[in-house]
Amino acid sequence: MSGLTLEQPENRAPSPRTPVHTAVVACRLRCWCGAIEGTLTNPASANPVVCYCEYCQGYAHLLGRPQRVLDERGGSQLLQTRQSNVSFTSSLETLVCLRLTARGMLRWYARCCGTPIGNTPANPQLSFISMAPACLDTGGVPLAELFGPVTAWCSTCDAKGRPKPKAAGRTRMMRWLFDTTLNARLNGDYKRTPFFHPDTGAPVVKLRIVRPTELVGVMAAVRQSATLIAEPAQGH
Ligand SMILES: [Zn+2]
Ligand SMILES: [Zn+2]
Repeated sequence: MSGLTLEQPENRAPSPRTPVHTAVVACRLRCWCGAIEGTLTNPASANPVVCYCEYCQGYAHLLGRPQRVLDERGGSQLLQTRQSNVSFTSSLETLVCLRLTARGMLRWYARCCGTPIGNTPANPQLSFISMAPACLDTGGVPLAELFGPVTAWCSTCDAKGRPKPKAAGRTRMMRWLFDTTLNARLNGDYKRTPFFHPDTGAPVVKLRIVRPTELVGVMAAVRQSATLIAEPAQGH
């Protein structure tokens, strides 16, 4: 539980029946080597989803440790939350903002050790981030207990193995994104972000776009990577 901050007892009567995720107000953010540190607040307000798209898989391959980031079907669990819930307490010297294509999501990661931090839209007025659990210290508490159950499974056609996982929850996810970004826009919360300069809207670190030749190599690695779930035996 060392990575978690709990609500003070005067705010909530402690009870062994209280689910952990309703009492946790903050979760420590830390890259694998510790160079980048920070905090994610309001974990229970996040919207957990799983994305199987080949770009998320390609990104994991690009960072060099796909087995540590992807599940056995090639899925990336992502915790969608407001950018204002994220703050950094360390230098951002090794923070990288990367785009796989000229128009894709901005993917933020720690160059020091290859830890994915999260993905944001390029437009800072759409103020949400899909956080990568890899950078969060949950103190051993399961993600579902802290953030709630997964609510959407996306791009399942790119998942490894057969049958493909069933896609679900997309409408609910789009509504969550719409409501969250609209609220942040209306109440000015979108200006409280550690990822973009409040005045110019530019990313706080230099943007890197993956060279097309490098992307081709990465995506080939994704397609050639072993099917992680054994296919059902044929015949007999
Ligand atoms: Zn690091
Ligand atoms: Zn994806």
